[in-house]
Amino acid sequence: MEKRKMIAGNWKMNKTNDEALVLVKELLEEVSNNKDKDILIAPPFTALSEISKLIKSSNIKLGAQNMYFEDKGAFTGQISSSMLKSAGCEYVILGHSECRIIFSETDELINKKIKHALEVNLIPIFCVGETLKEREEGLTNKIIDNQIKKGLNSIEEKLAKNIIIAYEPVWAIGTGKTASPEDADKVHAEIRKTLTGIYNLELAQNTRILYGGSMNEENAKSLLSMPNIDGGLIGGASLVASKFSRIVNCAI
Ligand code: PEP
Repeated sequence: MEKRKMIAGNWKMNKTNDEALVLVKELLEEVSNNKDKDILIAPPFTALSEISKLIKSSNIKLGAQNMYFEDKGAFTGQISSSMLKSAGCEYVILGHSECRIIFSETDELINKKIKHALEVNLIPIFCVGETLKEREEGLTNKIIDNQIKKGLNSIEEKLAKNIIIAYEPVWAIGTGKTASPEDADKVHAEIRKTLTGIYNLELAQNTRILYGGSMNEENAKSLLSMPNIDGGLIGGASLVASKFSRIVNCAI
């Protein structure tokens, strides 16, 4: 089923507050007229509040790049859902491969975070993806199926229907290598099969599945044209307003 495309920018650990405000002002100029896509940015935590004020009455939505599942307490260095909501966030990226690989986040931890986000009405963008070795061994579908089943473990349908999934092959993130539109679409179709198995066909068809991994202004249109690709999660190209806006404004 065709859905409104979402273009989401994951800024990762980039941009001081001053730099972040410059980028947002540029983005506001370049994408504010776009009416056909949903636009989201996920800046670093430190810039969320200020950015939230700037984009308040615009078509750009705000997300965070991670959060912890407890609401408050002795969790040094962590950030809670209520902090993110009070800073103006409506979305949160969870399970990003950098958090899985560099910071050892497990499927079980990611599951707790997804569950908590849904319970407090933050929309999780749940990332899954295989490594190059796993792809070469023909394990892509098995790995993704497993990540989804564990990530959504014991999450009821009425909450799960609000989730967004991002398929981000690890070998394509920040490498300049992109999955071909056909390969990405096949994995997205498999993800819908997994969701049908856990929940039902309607939920699987209605769930937005974004592609992430070196999406840029050159390849966005062909990826976004595929029937199972409902948008993009963009790292590198989201840090340059002209590149991100070309993806947002591409005719699809
Ligand atoms: C990401 O990290 O979510 C991502 C897709 O990065 P890049 O676009 O730089 O590959």
